[in-house]
Amino acid sequence: MLDIVYYSDSFLRKKAQAVQSFDENLHTLLDEMYVLMIERNGVGLAAPQVRHSLRALVINLPDEEGEQHKENLLEVLNPEIIEHSGKILFNEGCLSVPDYYDDIERSEKVTVSYHDRFGNAHTLDAEGYLAVALQHEIDHLNGILFVDRLPLLKRKRFEKAFKKQQRCSA
Ligand SMILES: [Zn+2]
Repeated sequence: MLDIVYYSDSFLRKKAQAVQSFDENLHTLLDEMYVLMIERNGVGLAAPQVRHSLRALVINLPDEEGEQHKENLLEVLNPEIIEHSGKILFNEGCLSVPDYYDDIERSEKVTVSYHDRFGNAHTLDAEGYLAVALQHEIDHLNGILFVDRLPLLKRKRFEKAFKKQQRCSA
């Protein structure tokens, strides 16, 4: 069974490898990532967060009632942001960085090219919440965490709080 890799595990810093086999192993991984994401109340999960060095991510945004439906599940492999515009400030969290939320500046709109689980190519225009989720998860494939995008002072405060928390639980 999969488990979440937590900050500050160095695995989260690796650049993930392109998906080349759109086979049963990949499908099993995607299915298990979906189950784990829902179990942990996440809206997105990238393969490096479950210790798989693959350019693969899943996103399942809630509807207006806050419910997640599997028919809205987005499986994104080998994504590339081919266009981006605008700016948006969004309160983000991450399953790999528990109990920390902060406002991060992202592009408001992105166009992403990607493959689905069968290797078919797609292009997606996203804005707002979905654009933010895509950028957050694509960052994971490049070894970047949302806290890396905090302004320096906030970033230092995060490090300090993290170290203190570690001392307390040690
Ligand atoms: Zn994350």
